[in-house]
Amino acid sequence: MTVRLIHEFRFESAHRLPKVPEGHKCARLHGHSFKVELAVRGPVSADTGWFIDFGELYEIWKPVWEQLDHRYLNEIPGLENPTSEVLAKWIWEKMKPLLPSLETVILFETCDARCEYSGDD
Ligand SMILES: [Zn+2]
Repeated sequence: MTVRLIHEFRFESAHRLPKVPEGHKCARLHGHSFKVELAVRGPVSADTGWFIDFGELYEIWKPVWEQLDHRYLNEIPGLENPTSEVLAKWIWEKMKPLLPSLETVILFETCDARCEYSGDD
């Protein structure tokens, strides 16, 4: 039996988008209450009935969260142009080596707008 588990986390960050057209609102400094969903996929142990402990996901996420929460994203290496697309990939690249079962990073910039990244070029 294979399952897909999703754990959601939240962080608050400021950013501005330097490459939008002149006059675009996203060029101005502003913040978001980001939500990120980390989806992992793998087999359930017949013995334990578990695939992965959600607590393990939290432990892997925590150092990444500390780099993002209450930060100005543009100052972080790799996030000089912190669109949702770039940020989702950045999170993927931090998490995937430590969490091989990671299938998708789903980054919500607002309640109704999100970016999904699954490691594609
Ligand atoms: Zn924004």
